[in-house]
Amino acid sequence: MASSSYKYTQTLMGTEVSLILFEPDEIAAQTVFNSIKILEDKLTVNRPESEVMSINLAAGQHPVKVSPPVYSLIEQAVKVSLHFTDYFNLAIGPVVKLWKIGFKGYQVPNSEQIKQQLLLTNPRYIELDANTYSVFLKKAGMKIDLGAIAKGYIADVVKHILHQYHIYQAIINLGGNVLTLGHSPINDNGYWHVGLRKPFSHHNELAGIVKVKNKSIVTSGIYERFFMQNDILYHHIFNPLTGYPLNNELESVTIISNTSLEGDIYSTILYGLGVLKGSEYLKKNRHLSAIFLLKNKTIKLVNCDNFSFQLLDDEYEIV
Ligand code: AMP
Ligand code: MG
Repeated sequence: MASSSYKYTQTLMGTEVSLILFEPDEIAAQTVFNSIKILEDKLTVNRPESEVMSINLAAGQHPVKVSPPVYSLIEQAVKVSLHFTDYFNLAIGPVVKLWKIGFKGYQVPNSEQIKQQLLLTNPRYIELDANTYSVFLKKAGMKIDLGAIAKGYIADVVKHILHQYHIYQAIINLGGNVLTLGHSPINDNGYWHVGLRKPFSHHNELAGIVKVKNKSIVTSGIYERFFMQNDILYHHIFNPLTGYPLNNELESVTIISNTSLEGDIYSTILYGLGVLKGSEYLKKNRHLSAIFLLKNKTIKLVNCDNFSFQLLDDEYEIV
């Protein structure tokens, strides 16, 4: 049993990215960080230039050719958006940019402004051409936003890179999107112990510990990006139909899945579905597991065969 771990960290994608390995491997770690940087540079919409920004800036004018990974991610996001129209929409960009939640200049827009921007969020106006890898937003002002899936996609790419370096036991943490590789060499029975953050805690306190093997753990929560105004909390996960932050009983949803892309997609969708519809959905999709943290401080675990959960905070109760 290995006894030492080696942690590598960098600030990327506006968050702390860390990699834990069990043999030192500076070269693998650097390759991982460089690859994340390259992907972030292609996918971001928080800087003036990126492949996704080129698509957005050409909206209503012409198609833009992108690199194969960006094309493939957009293609998947379009599929999900057309299937889960009420909860997930990659074309939500104009609404995200109007509210600016988590950024300088955040505001509660008036309903007329929201209505105007909503007209620019129809994912059916995204035209894809698989032969040329090009993406065309057919209406001027449309904007793609991959914020709900980019980290998941990138975490899976990191896993692939680590495999190329023959690393099969590791933890990748992209600011809370956690992907565990293989079995843990340091814990009993090979389970990885991954902290689940207590919502709104100031010092990164934990609500509990999720124990998994070879799984991704992704959380969507209203405490990640929000502001308060007149005692109302406005957070960063939007109802694509209204253009307002989703208002339901949940503080957060954590998805345990095989790939991190899947985890990221479904954390956003399951947040929108809420605990009742979400649990129904999961009963028919048993390869996904979930931990719902509710505002009334109860916790609901669904499809527990893929993980176990140890509660740490006695403010919460598992029901
Ligand atoms: P996540 O934390 O994975 O749930 O993703 C939230 C991020 O995705 C937000 O910061 C927005 O950039 C974007 N977003 C917000 N609401 C939606 C939605 N309903 N569908 C797709 N992306 C969204
Ligand atoms: Mg997500």
